[in-house]
Amino acid sequence: NRYVAIKAPIDGVPKESDFELMNQKFSLSIKRGSKEIIIKNLYVSIDPYHVNQMKTTGALGRTIVPGEVINSYGVGKVIASGNPRFAKGDYVVGNISWGEYSISKGFFLRKLDPMGLPLSYHIGVLGLSGLTAYAGFFDICKPKRGETVFVSAASGSVGNLVGQYAKQLGCYVVGCAGSPKKVKLLKEKLGFDEAFNYKEDTDLNSALQRYFPNGIDIYFDNVGAQMLEAAISNMNLYGRVAVCGAISEYTDSEKHAKLDMLSIIYKRIIIQGFITHDYMNLFPEFVSKTVDYILVGKIHVLEDVLIGIESVPSAFVGVFHGNNVGKRIVKIADD
Ligand code: NDP
Repeated sequence: NRYVAIKAPIDGVPKESDFELMNQKFSLSIKRGSKEIIIKNLYVSIDPYHVNQMKTTGALGRTIVPGEVINSYGVGKVIASGNPRFAKGDYVVGNISWGEYSISKGFFLRKLDPMGLPLSYHIGVLGLSGLTAYAGFFDICKPKRGETVFVSAASGSVGNLVGQYAKQLGCYVVGCAGSPKKVKLLKEKLGFDEAFNYKEDTDLNSALQRYFPNGIDIYFDNVGAQMLEAAISNMNLYGRVAVCGAISEYTDSEKHAKLDMLSIIYKRIIIQGFITHDYMNLFPEFVSKTVDYILVGKIHVLEDVLIGIESVPSAFVGVFHGNNVGKRIVKIADD
């Protein structure tokens, strides 16, 4: 079994040379009496948050250990099972690993009905990225038709879906992203009302004043730091901010948002962080609505798929340079 591991803790922006491909002896059969499942990994998810667990001091005490297997969301096929919930041949989605095979006790893993859709969809648009966008936007931001919505990292896996859900609801939506190509995609393919390149429009406050002459009602934050500061300065009375991620802070320990507290108080702004795992109760509702949207073409599925276990380090490193458009996935093997 080949799997990807870190060589040592990573503080700062990850590089491909921080990773190595390990090879372990691996039995493809289950020991008698074991409740374990052996999974052939088909698609694995690439998520920026992993970098927080690769640091010398892992986020919230959860650390990825050098040389050891890295857990990740993904889709696979059961090749042997001692667990009554899973049978050989079942597709599964949930906690697998950045490797060719995974051993699981069934924790945070469920049987997958692909519903006639590509397996990779169940990682991104119908997986945790989709649920993050859905729960964060609808549950935390409590949007109403006609409200103004700003989304950062808008061409990323979560951001593009937040924008598309917001358009379905009838909001005015502006996204920011890191290249002219991404800006064009947001406006021309995904239906955003406006989009701007934050690497060119570096005066973020003026950019937001220009795109939101009447202020922002909802900010869905994926990046933190200066983008959050500028958004707060342009929020309306009773504005809501869903703090989903802070990718610009993950790799730079000096970078933090300096918030204008008086503005937050007088404008009665609600700022709420959230973790998607707390919203698994919304999963059935989220999947059913999102599948409908996909089938009638109201949600455009944006995927960025690299091939082979060897691609995992470059796929991961690339998200910190904006190389991905939509959900970044590595296809490990054919079904
Ligand atoms: P993606 O991997 O799809 O996209 C990341 C994008 O962020 C990149 O493509 C890049 O696009 C942008 N980016 C990278 N570095 C910076 C930077 N320094 N400043 C501004 N933008 C940057 O990410 P996801 O959509 O999967 O995740 C988005 C955010 O949501 C992340 O912060 C992630 O950690 C968080 N998250 C939180 C969850 C939760 O439970 N709270 C669950 C899932 C994700 P560009 O070209 O625009 O720079």
